[in-house]
Amino acid sequence: MPVKDLIVSRSSESKKGKSQENTGPTHRNSAAPNDRPQKVGFISLGCPKNLVDSEVMMGMLARAGAELTRRAEDADVIVVNTCSFINSAQQESVNTILEMAAHKTSGKAKKLVVAGCLVERYRDQIRKDIPEVDAVVGTGELMQILAATGIAPAPAPTNSPFVVLNSRPEGDARAAQGRFSRESWDGAIGDLPNYLYDEDTPRILATPQHMAYIKIAEGCDHPCTFCIIPQLRGQFRSRRFESVIAEAERLAQSGVREVTLIGQDTTCYGEDFELKDGLALLLEKLADIEGLRWVRFLYAYPNKITGKLLETIASHEKICSYMDVPLQHASASVLKRMKRGGGAEVFLKSIHKMRRVIPELTLRTSFIVGFPGETEKEFEELCEFVREAQFDWMGTFSYSDQEGAGAYGLEKKLSSGETERRRKHLMSIQRQISKKKKKALIGREFDLLLEGESEETELLLEGRTAMHAPEIDGKVFVNDFPEEIQPEPGHFYRCQITEAHDYDLVARIL
Ligand code: SF4
Repeated sequence: MPVKDLIVSRSSESKKGKSQENTGPTHRNSAAPNDRPQKVGFISLGCPKNLVDSEVMMGMLARAGAELTRRAEDADVIVVNTCSFINSAQQESVNTILEMAAHKTSGKAKKLVVAGCLVERYRDQIRKDIPEVDAVVGTGELMQILAATGIAPAPAPTNSPFVVLNSRPEGDARAAQGRFSRESWDGAIGDLPNYLYDEDTPRILATPQHMAYIKIAEGCDHPCTFCIIPQLRGQFRSRRFESVIAEAERLAQSGVREVTLIGQDTTCYGEDFELKDGLALLLEKLADIEGLRWVRFLYAYPNKITGKLLETIASHEKICSYMDVPLQHASASVLKRMKRGGGAEVFLKSIHKMRRVIPELTLRTSFIVGFPGETEKEFEELCEFVREAQFDWMGTFSYSDQEGAGAYGLEKKLSSGETERRRKHLMSIQRQISKKKKKALIGREFDLLLEGESEETELLLEGRTAMHAPEIDGKVFVNDFPEEIQPEPGHFYRCQITEAHDYDLVARIL
Protein backbone atom coordinates (compact mmCIF):
# COMPACT_ATOMS: atom_id res chain seq x y z
CA MET A 1 0.00 0.00 0.00
CA PRO A 2 1.44 3.43 -0.87
CA VAL A 3 1.19 4.60 2.71
CA LYS A 4 2.79 7.95 1.97
CA ASP A 5 -0.33 8.71 -0.06
CA LEU A 6 -2.72 7.59 2.65
CA ILE A 7 -2.67 10.74 4.75
CA VAL A 8 -1.59 14.07 3.33
CA SER A 9 -1.17 17.53 4.72
CA ARG A 10 -4.21 19.77 4.89
CA SER A 11 -2.34 22.98 5.53
CA SER A 12 1.14 24.34 5.99
CA GLU A 13 0.82 23.60 9.73
CA SER A 14 0.20 19.96 9.00
CA LYS A 15 3.63 19.74 7.40
CA LYS A 16 4.99 20.09 10.90
CA GLY A 17 2.96 17.06 11.88
CA LYS A 18 0.07 18.94 13.39
CA SER A 19 -2.76 17.82 11.17
CA GLN A 20 -3.14 15.14 8.60
CA GLU A 21 -5.87 14.15 6.21
CA ASN A 22 -6.45 10.67 5.00
CA THR A 23 -6.32 10.39 1.29
CA GLY A 24 -6.66 6.68 1.36
CA PRO A 25 -6.29 3.72 -0.84
CA THR A 26 -9.26 1.57 -1.57
CA HIS A 27 -10.16 -1.18 0.88
CA ARG A 28 -13.24 -3.23 0.23
CA ASN A 29 -14.65 -6.46 1.43
CA SER A 30 -17.79 -8.38 0.74
CA ALA A 31 -19.17 -7.60 4.19
CA ALA A 32 -20.01 -4.06 3.11
CA PRO A 33 -23.63 -3.44 3.99
CA ASN A 34 -24.31 -1.19 0.97
CA ASP A 35 -24.24 -1.90 -2.77
CA ARG A 36 -21.30 0.39 -3.11
CA PRO A 37 -18.75 0.89 -0.31
CA GLN A 38 -19.18 4.13 1.57
CA LYS A 39 -16.32 6.53 1.02
CA VAL A 40 -14.81 7.87 4.23
CA GLY A 41 -12.49 10.88 4.44
CA PHE A 42 -10.39 10.97 7.61
CA ILE A 43 -8.58 13.91 9.18
CA SER A 44 -6.20 13.30 12.07
CA LEU A 45 -5.10 16.21 14.24
CA GLY A 46 -2.62 16.39 17.09
CA CYS A 47 0.11 14.07 18.29
CA PRO A 48 1.33 10.62 17.16
CA LYS A 49 -0.82 9.04 19.94
CA ASN A 50 -3.90 10.46 18.26
CA LEU A 51 -2.56 9.38 14.87
CA VAL A 52 -2.45 5.76 16.09
CA ASP A 53 -6.10 6.08 17.16
CA SER A 54 -6.90 7.35 13.65
CA GLU A 55 -5.02 4.41 12.12
CA VAL A 56 -7.03 2.01 14.28
CA MET A 57 -10.37 3.60 13.33
CA MET A 58 -9.40 3.57 9.64
CA GLY A 59 -8.48 -0.10 10.02
CA MET A 60 -11.88 -0.90 11.53
CA LEU A 61 -13.69 1.03 8.80
CA ALA A 62 -11.72 -0.61 6.00
CA ARG A 63 -12.29 -4.07 7.46
CA ALA A 64 -16.03 -3.34 7.59
CA GLY A 65 -16.05 -2.49 3.89
CA ALA A 66 -15.51 1.27 3.75
CA GLU A 67 -13.42 2.86 1.08
CA LEU A 68 -11.02 5.51 2.35
CA THR A 69 -10.71 8.60 0.19
CA ARG A 70 -8.18 11.39 0.17
CA ARG A 71 -10.61 13.97 -1.16
CA ALA A 72 -13.08 15.42 1.33
CA GLU A 73 -15.32 16.46 -1.56
CA ASP A 74 -15.67 12.81 -2.61
CA ALA A 75 -16.44 11.47 0.86
CA ASP A 76 -19.88 10.21 1.95
CA VAL A 77 -18.68 10.42 5.54
CA ILE A 78 -16.00 12.70 6.99
CA VAL A 79 -14.32 11.91 10.32
CA VAL A 80 -12.27 14.53 12.19
CA ASN A 81 -10.13 13.04 14.97
CA THR A 82 -9.50 16.03 17.21
CA CYS A 83 -6.89 17.26 19.68
CA SER A 84 -7.69 19.15 22.88
CA PHE A 85 -4.27 19.47 24.50
CA ILE A 86 -4.01 23.26 24.59
CA ASN A 87 -6.14 26.20 23.44
CA SER A 88 -4.52 26.48 20.01
CA ALA A 89 -5.09 22.75 19.41
CA GLN A 90 -8.76 23.10 20.41
CA GLN A 91 -9.12 26.06 18.06
CA GLU A 92 -7.53 24.13 15.20
CA SER A 93 -9.92 21.24 15.90
CA VAL A 94 -13.00 23.48 15.84
CA ASN A 95 -11.82 25.25 12.66
CA THR A 96 -11.32 21.90 10.96
CA ILE A 97 -14.76 20.64 12.01
CA LEU A 98 -16.35 23.81 10.58
CA GLU A 99 -14.32 23.52 7.39
CA MET A 100 -15.47 19.92 6.94
CA ALA A 101 -19.07 20.79 7.88
CA ALA A 102 -19.17 22.93 4.73
CA HIS A 103 -18.85 19.72 2.68
CA LYS A 104 -22.28 18.68 3.91
CA THR A 105 -23.84 21.62 2.09
CA SER A 106 -21.46 22.10 -0.83
CA GLY A 107 -20.23 18.53 -1.35
CA LYS A 108 -21.65 15.07 -1.24
CA ALA A 109 -20.91 14.33 2.43
CA LYS A 110 -23.93 12.97 4.27
CA LYS A 111 -22.31 12.55 7.64
CA LEU A 112 -19.78 14.34 9.79
CA VAL A 113 -18.29 12.47 12.74
CA VAL A 114 -16.08 14.10 15.38
CA ALA A 115 -13.75 11.84 17.37
CA GLY A 116 -10.93 12.21 19.89
CA CYS A 117 -9.94 14.40 22.83
CA LEU A 118 -12.24 17.34 22.04
CA VAL A 119 -15.19 14.95 22.37
CA GLU A 120 -14.07 13.87 25.84
CA ARG A 121 -13.85 17.54 26.84
CA TYR A 122 -16.85 19.12 25.06
CA ARG A 123 -19.12 16.21 24.13
CA ASP A 124 -22.48 18.00 24.52
CA GLN A 125 -21.30 21.36 23.34
CA ILE A 126 -20.06 20.01 20.01
CA ARG A 127 -23.47 18.48 19.31
CA LYS A 128 -25.31 21.60 20.42
CA ASP A 129 -23.16 24.28 18.77
CA ILE A 130 -22.28 22.50 15.54
CA PRO A 131 -25.53 20.88 14.37
CA GLU A 132 -23.82 19.53 11.23
CA VAL A 133 -22.06 17.00 13.49
CA ASP A 134 -23.98 13.72 13.28
CA ALA A 135 -22.07 11.66 15.83
CA VAL A 136 -19.24 11.89 18.33
CA VAL A 137 -16.74 9.20 19.33
CA GLY A 138 -14.61 9.62 22.46
CA THR A 139 -11.06 8.36 22.93
CA GLY A 140 -12.37 5.31 24.79
CA GLU A 141 -15.00 4.43 22.21
CA LEU A 142 -12.98 3.81 19.04
CA MET A 143 -14.99 0.72 18.17
CA GLN A 144 -18.08 2.96 17.99
CA ILE A 145 -16.67 4.48 14.79
CA LEU A 146 -18.49 1.80 12.79
CA ALA A 147 -21.91 2.73 14.14
CA ALA A 148 -21.12 6.47 14.11
CA THR A 149 -20.26 6.42 10.41
CA GLY A 150 -23.13 4.03 9.58
CA ILE A 151 -20.70 1.56 7.98
CA ALA A 152 -21.58 -1.33 10.30
CA PRO A 153 -23.01 -1.89 13.77
CA ALA A 154 -20.57 -1.38 16.61
CA PRO A 155 -19.46 -4.52 18.44
CA ALA A 156 -21.17 -4.99 21.79
CA PRO A 157 -19.06 -3.14 24.37
CA THR A 158 -19.35 -5.93 26.91
CA ASN A 159 -17.57 -8.35 24.58
CA SER A 160 -14.99 -5.91 23.39
CA PRO A 161 -11.44 -7.31 23.50
CA PHE A 162 -10.16 -3.74 23.49
CA VAL A 163 -11.15 -2.73 26.98
CA VAL A 164 -8.38 -3.22 29.52
CA LEU A 165 -8.87 -3.38 33.24
CA ASN A 166 -5.34 -3.24 34.63
CA SER A 167 -4.25 -0.18 36.59
CA ARG A 168 -1.44 0.93 38.91
CA PRO A 169 -1.96 1.44 42.66
CA GLU A 170 -0.60 4.96 42.14
CA GLY A 171 -3.35 5.62 39.59
CA ASP A 172 -6.04 4.12 41.83
CA ALA A 173 -4.90 6.37 44.68
CA ARG A 174 -4.97 9.44 42.42
CA ALA A 175 -8.41 8.44 41.20
CA ALA A 176 -9.60 8.31 44.82
CA GLN A 177 -8.17 11.82 45.31
CA GLY A 178 -10.20 13.10 42.33
CA ARG A 179 -7.38 13.44 39.75
CA PHE A 180 -9.55 12.08 36.96
CA SER A 181 -12.77 13.83 37.92
CA ARG A 182 -14.76 15.30 35.03
CA GLU A 183 -17.77 16.25 37.08
CA SER A 184 -17.58 19.92 36.19
CA TRP A 185 -17.34 19.16 32.48
CA ASP A 186 -20.58 19.57 30.57
CA GLY A 187 -21.71 16.30 29.05
CA ALA A 188 -18.62 14.25 29.95
CA ILE A 189 -19.65 10.62 30.30
CA GLY A 190 -19.07 9.09 33.71
CA ASP A 191 -16.74 6.32 32.63
CA LEU A 192 -13.15 7.26 31.94
CA PRO A 193 -11.75 5.94 28.68
CA ASN A 194 -10.19 2.50 29.18
CA TYR A 195 -9.72 1.45 25.58
CA LEU A 196 -6.39 0.14 24.28
CA TYR A 197 -5.85 -1.54 20.93
CA ASP A 198 -3.98 -4.83 20.60
CA GLU A 199 -2.13 -6.81 17.96
CA ASP A 200 -5.36 -8.15 16.45
CA THR A 201 -6.98 -4.75 16.04
CA PRO A 202 -7.08 -3.75 12.37
CA ARG A 203 -4.85 -0.76 11.74
CA ILE A 204 -3.92 1.10 8.57
CA LEU A 205 -0.60 2.91 8.82
CA ALA A 206 -0.69 6.52 7.79
CA THR A 207 3.06 7.00 8.12
CA PRO A 208 5.60 6.28 5.36
CA GLN A 209 5.89 2.53 4.78
CA HIS A 210 9.26 2.22 6.49
CA MET A 211 8.24 3.61 9.88
CA ALA A 212 5.46 3.12 12.40
CA TYR A 213 4.45 4.28 15.83
CA ILE A 214 3.48 1.65 18.38
CA LYS A 215 1.36 2.79 21.28
CA ILE A 216 2.56 0.71 24.24
CA ALA A 217 0.42 2.36 26.91
CA GLU A 218 -2.43 4.80 27.23
CA GLY A 219 -3.58 7.28 29.88
CA CYS A 220 -1.53 8.88 32.63
CA ASP A 221 -1.50 8.81 36.44
CA HIS A 222 0.74 11.82 37.00
CA PRO A 223 -0.67 14.89 38.75
CA CYS A 224 0.86 17.66 36.56
CA THR A 225 -1.30 20.71 37.27
CA PHE A 226 -1.17 22.18 33.74
CA CYS A 227 -2.47 19.02 32.09
CA ILE A 228 -5.93 17.56 31.51
CA ILE A 229 -4.76 14.54 29.54
CA PRO A 230 -5.50 12.13 32.42
CA GLN A 231 -9.15 13.32 32.38
CA LEU A 232 -9.23 12.96 28.58
CA ARG A 233 -7.44 9.62 28.26
CA GLY A 234 -8.02 7.92 31.61
CA GLN A 235 -5.77 6.08 34.02
CA PHE A 236 -2.45 4.66 32.88
CA ARG A 237 -2.65 1.16 31.44
CA SER A 238 -0.09 -0.84 29.45
CA ARG A 239 -0.54 -3.15 26.52
CA ARG A 240 0.43 -6.74 27.11
CA PHE A 241 4.14 -7.37 26.48
CA GLU A 242 3.42 -10.14 23.93
CA SER A 243 0.91 -7.93 22.12
CA VAL A 244 3.50 -5.21 21.48
CA ILE A 245 6.08 -7.76 20.30
CA ALA A 246 3.56 -9.46 17.99
CA GLU A 247 2.62 -6.13 16.44
CA ALA A 248 6.28 -5.14 15.97
CA GLU A 249 7.05 -8.49 14.31
CA ARG A 250 4.15 -8.05 11.92
CA LEU A 251 5.20 -4.51 11.11
CA ALA A 252 8.77 -5.64 10.43
CA GLN A 253 7.48 -8.38 8.11
CA SER A 254 5.49 -5.77 6.19
CA GLY A 255 8.60 -3.63 5.57
CA VAL A 256 8.71 -1.31 8.58
CA ARG A 257 12.34 -0.60 9.52
CA GLU A 258 11.87 1.89 12.34
CA VAL A 259 9.43 1.74 15.24
CA THR A 260 8.84 4.55 17.71
CA LEU A 261 7.19 3.57 20.98
CA ILE A 262 4.72 6.08 22.34
CA GLY A 263 2.34 6.58 25.28
CA GLN A 264 1.67 9.51 27.63
CA ASP A 265 4.52 8.13 29.75
CA THR A 266 6.46 5.25 28.17
CA THR A 267 8.76 4.85 31.18
CA CYS A 268 5.86 3.58 33.35
CA TYR A 269 5.34 0.73 30.88
CA GLY A 270 4.48 -2.55 32.63
CA GLU A 271 4.05 -1.11 36.14
CA ASP A 272 0.37 -2.06 36.08
CA PHE A 273 1.53 -5.68 35.51
CA GLU A 274 4.07 -5.31 38.31
CA LEU A 275 6.74 -5.65 35.66
CA LYS A 276 9.99 -4.05 36.79
CA ASP A 277 11.95 -2.21 34.08
CA GLY A 278 9.21 -3.07 31.60
CA LEU A 279 10.35 -0.57 28.98
CA ALA A 280 13.96 -1.82 29.09
CA LEU A 281 12.77 -5.43 28.71
CA LEU A 282 10.51 -4.46 25.84
CA LEU A 283 13.27 -2.59 24.02
CA GLU A 284 15.62 -5.55 24.46
CA LYS A 285 13.10 -7.89 22.89
CA LEU A 286 12.27 -5.48 20.06
CA ALA A 287 15.97 -5.14 19.25
CA ASP A 288 15.98 -8.89 18.46
CA ILE A 289 13.34 -8.59 15.75
CA GLU A 290 14.74 -9.30 12.34
CA GLY A 291 14.03 -6.53 9.84
CA LEU A 292 13.82 -3.71 12.36
CA ARG A 293 16.79 -1.40 12.16
CA TRP A 294 15.91 1.43 14.55
CA VAL A 295 13.84 1.24 17.74
CA ARG A 296 13.22 4.33 19.85
CA PHE A 297 10.76 5.62 22.40
CA LEU A 298 9.38 9.08 23.19
CA TYR A 299 7.88 10.75 26.30
CA ALA A 300 10.07 9.55 29.18
CA TYR A 301 9.13 10.85 32.64
CA PRO A 302 12.30 12.24 34.31
CA ASN A 303 12.25 10.31 37.60
CA LYS A 304 11.35 7.02 35.90
CA ILE A 305 14.61 6.67 33.97
CA THR A 306 16.42 3.73 35.50
CA GLY A 307 20.04 2.56 35.20
CA LYS A 308 18.79 -0.60 33.52
CA LEU A 309 16.98 1.47 30.86
CA LEU A 310 20.13 3.49 30.10
CA GLU A 311 22.32 0.37 29.96
CA THR A 312 19.84 -1.34 27.65
CA ILE A 313 19.93 1.62 25.24
CA ALA A 314 23.72 1.73 25.38
CA SER A 315 24.22 -1.98 24.76
CA HIS A 316 21.96 -2.50 21.71
CA GLU A 317 22.92 -1.10 18.36
CA LYS A 318 19.34 -1.11 17.09
CA ILE A 319 18.03 0.95 20.01
CA CYS A 320 18.67 4.56 19.03
CA SER A 321 20.85 6.48 21.47
CA TYR A 322 18.05 8.96 21.77
CA MET A 323 16.05 10.14 24.78
CA ASP A 324 13.02 12.39 24.78
CA VAL A 325 12.47 13.63 28.34
CA PRO A 326 9.97 16.49 28.63
CA LEU A 327 11.18 18.34 31.75
CA GLN A 328 8.60 21.16 31.55
CA HIS A 329 10.68 23.55 33.73
CA ALA A 330 13.91 23.70 35.73
CA SER A 331 13.03 25.95 38.65
CA ALA A 332 12.25 23.77 41.68
CA SER A 333 9.55 26.19 42.87
CA VAL A 334 7.75 26.20 39.49
CA LEU A 335 8.06 22.40 39.24
CA LYS A 336 6.54 22.15 42.70
CA ARG A 337 3.55 24.24 41.60
CA MET A 338 3.35 22.02 38.51
CA LYS A 339 3.27 19.01 40.91
CA ARG A 340 6.16 17.39 39.08
CA GLY A 341 9.09 17.76 41.45
CA GLY A 342 12.77 17.92 40.58
CA GLY A 343 14.81 20.96 39.68
CA ALA A 344 17.92 22.12 37.81
CA GLU A 345 20.43 20.40 40.10
CA VAL A 346 18.82 16.98 40.10
CA PHE A 347 18.08 17.18 36.36
CA LEU A 348 21.70 18.05 35.56
CA LYS A 349 22.88 15.07 37.60
CA SER A 350 20.52 12.83 35.75
CA ILE A 351 21.61 14.25 32.35
CA HIS A 352 25.28 13.67 33.23
CA LYS A 353 24.45 10.08 34.08
CA MET A 354 22.53 9.59 30.81
CA ARG A 355 25.46 10.99 28.83
CA ARG A 356 27.98 8.92 30.80
CA VAL A 357 26.16 5.64 30.18
CA ILE A 358 25.16 6.48 26.58
CA PRO A 359 28.16 8.35 25.14
CA GLU A 360 26.61 9.44 21.81
CA LEU A 361 23.25 10.32 23.36
CA THR A 362 20.89 12.68 21.54
CA LEU A 363 18.77 14.40 24.18
CA ARG A 364 15.45 16.09 23.52
CA THR A 365 13.26 17.97 25.99
CA SER A 366 10.42 20.47 26.10
CA PHE A 367 9.50 23.27 28.47
CA ILE A 368 6.45 25.32 29.37
CA VAL A 369 7.07 29.03 29.88
CA GLY A 370 4.71 31.49 31.53
CA PHE A 371 3.31 29.06 34.12
CA PRO A 372 1.15 31.01 36.63
CA GLY A 373 3.34 33.00 38.99
CA GLU A 374 6.58 32.34 37.06
CA THR A 375 8.84 35.13 38.25
CA GLU A 376 11.64 36.72 36.26
CA LYS A 377 14.07 34.91 38.60
CA GLU A 378 12.43 31.51 38.04
CA PHE A 379 12.51 32.08 34.31
CA GLU A 380 16.20 33.03 34.48
CA GLU A 381 16.84 29.75 36.36
CA LEU A 382 15.30 27.94 33.41
CA CYS A 383 17.45 29.89 30.92
CA GLU A 384 20.60 29.13 32.91
CA PHE A 385 19.69 25.46 33.06
CA VAL A 386 19.19 25.34 29.28
CA ARG A 387 22.64 26.91 28.78
CA GLU A 388 24.20 24.28 31.03
CA ALA A 389 22.29 21.23 29.87
CA GLN A 390 23.10 21.74 26.17
CA PHE A 391 20.15 19.81 24.73
CA ASP A 392 20.32 18.54 21.18
CA TRP A 393 16.65 19.30 20.58
CA MET A 394 14.28 21.44 22.60
CA GLY A 395 10.64 22.46 22.26
CA THR A 396 9.06 25.38 24.12
CA PHE A 397 5.34 25.84 24.74
CA SER A 398 3.54 28.84 26.13
CA TYR A 399 1.42 27.99 29.17
CA SER A 400 -2.19 27.41 28.13
CA ASP A 401 -4.88 27.85 30.79
CA GLN A 402 -7.14 24.78 30.80
CA GLU A 403 -10.38 24.74 32.75
CA GLY A 404 -10.35 21.55 34.81
CA ALA A 405 -6.55 21.54 35.21
CA GLY A 406 -5.06 22.10 38.68
CA ALA A 407 -3.27 25.28 37.59
CA TYR A 408 -6.50 26.89 36.36
CA GLY A 409 -7.28 28.26 39.81
CA LEU A 410 -3.75 29.58 40.44
CA GLU A 411 -3.23 33.31 40.77
CA LYS A 412 -0.70 35.59 39.05
CA LYS A 413 -1.33 34.53 35.47
CA LEU A 414 1.15 36.08 33.05
CA SER A 415 0.03 38.12 30.06
CA SER A 416 0.28 36.42 26.67
CA GLY A 417 2.74 39.12 25.55
CA GLU A 418 5.11 38.45 28.44
CA THR A 419 4.81 34.68 27.98
CA GLU A 420 5.63 35.01 24.29
CA ARG A 421 8.62 37.23 25.07
CA ARG A 422 9.97 34.56 27.42
CA ARG A 423 9.30 31.76 24.93
CA LYS A 424 11.20 33.57 22.19
CA HIS A 425 14.07 34.37 24.53
CA LEU A 426 14.42 30.73 25.59
CA MET A 427 14.35 29.58 21.98
CA SER A 428 17.03 32.11 21.05
CA ILE A 429 19.32 30.56 23.68
CA GLN A 430 18.66 27.10 22.30
CA ARG A 431 19.18 28.25 18.71
CA GLN A 432 22.78 29.18 19.52
CA ILE A 433 23.32 25.84 21.29
CA SER A 434 21.82 23.92 18.41
CA LYS A 435 23.88 25.85 15.85
CA LYS A 436 27.11 25.00 17.66
CA LYS A 437 26.14 21.35 18.09
CA LYS A 438 25.13 20.93 14.47
CA LYS A 439 28.35 22.58 13.29
CA ALA A 440 30.38 20.05 15.29
CA LEU A 441 28.81 17.27 13.18
CA ILE A 442 30.35 18.51 9.90
CA GLY A 443 32.62 15.83 8.47
CA ARG A 444 31.14 13.02 10.57
CA GLU A 445 29.52 9.94 9.05
CA PHE A 446 26.11 8.50 9.97
CA ASP A 447 23.54 6.01 8.74
CA LEU A 448 20.72 7.89 7.07
CA LEU A 449 17.17 6.70 6.51
CA LEU A 450 16.09 8.33 3.27
CA GLU A 451 12.55 9.75 3.45
CA GLY A 452 12.29 10.93 -0.18
CA GLU A 453 12.12 14.20 -2.03
CA SER A 454 12.43 17.25 0.20
CA GLU A 455 9.22 19.06 1.11
CA GLU A 456 11.09 22.34 0.61
CA THR A 457 12.42 21.78 -2.91
CA GLU A 458 12.42 18.93 -5.38
CA LEU A 459 16.12 19.59 -5.98
CA LEU A 460 16.98 18.01 -2.63
CA LEU A 461 16.31 14.71 -0.93
CA GLU A 462 15.51 14.48 2.74
CA GLY A 463 16.26 11.92 5.43
CA ARG A 464 16.95 11.31 9.10
CA THR A 465 19.76 9.86 11.17
CA ALA A 466 19.24 8.04 14.49
CA MET A 467 19.59 11.51 16.07
CA HIS A 468 16.32 12.59 14.44
CA ALA A 469 12.96 11.26 15.66
CA PRO A 470 10.22 11.27 13.02
CA GLU A 471 8.37 14.54 12.51
CA ILE A 472 9.67 16.49 15.52
CA ASP A 473 13.40 17.06 15.04
CA GLY A 474 15.37 18.96 12.37
CA LYS A 475 16.04 17.55 8.93
CA VAL A 476 18.95 16.21 6.94
CA PHE A 477 18.92 17.46 3.36
CA VAL A 478 20.82 15.32 0.86
CA ASN A 479 22.34 17.25 -2.05
CA ASP A 480 24.83 14.75 -3.42
CA PHE A 481 25.14 11.02 -4.06
CA PRO A 482 27.36 8.82 -6.24
CA GLU A 483 26.22 8.48 -9.86
CA GLU A 484 25.83 4.70 -9.58
CA ILE A 485 23.30 5.04 -6.72
CA GLN A 486 19.61 5.67 -7.28
CA PRO A 487 18.54 6.61 -3.72
CA GLU A 488 15.25 5.05 -2.67
CA PRO A 489 12.94 6.22 0.12
CA GLY A 490 12.83 3.82 3.05
CA HIS A 491 16.43 2.63 2.46
CA PHE A 492 19.44 3.26 4.65
CA TYR A 493 22.61 4.91 3.27
CA ARG A 494 25.91 5.87 4.81
CA CYS A 495 26.25 9.64 4.63
CA GLN A 496 28.66 12.39 5.58
CA ILE A 497 27.51 15.72 7.01
CA THR A 498 28.79 18.56 4.82
CA GLU A 499 26.93 21.66 6.10
CA ALA A 500 25.08 22.72 9.23
CA HIS A 501 22.36 25.28 9.85
CA ASP A 502 20.66 26.28 13.12
CA TYR A 503 18.64 23.06 13.27
CA ASP A 504 19.05 21.30 9.91
CA LEU A 505 21.97 19.48 8.34
CA VAL A 506 23.14 18.91 4.78
CA ALA A 507 24.73 15.58 3.86
CA ARG A 508 26.07 13.61 0.92
CA ILE A 509 25.51 9.93 0.45
CA LEU A 510 28.84 8.06 0.33
S1 SF4 B 1 3.06 13.25 32.56
FE1 SF4 B 1 2.05 15.14 33.18
S2 SF4 B 1 2.08 16.39 31.28
FE2 SF4 B 1 2.43 14.28 30.63
S3 SF4 B 1 0.38 13.49 30.13
FE3 SF4 B 1 0.81 12.95 32.28
S4 SF4 B 1 -0.14 14.60 33.48
FE4 SF4 B 1 0.07 15.34 31.36
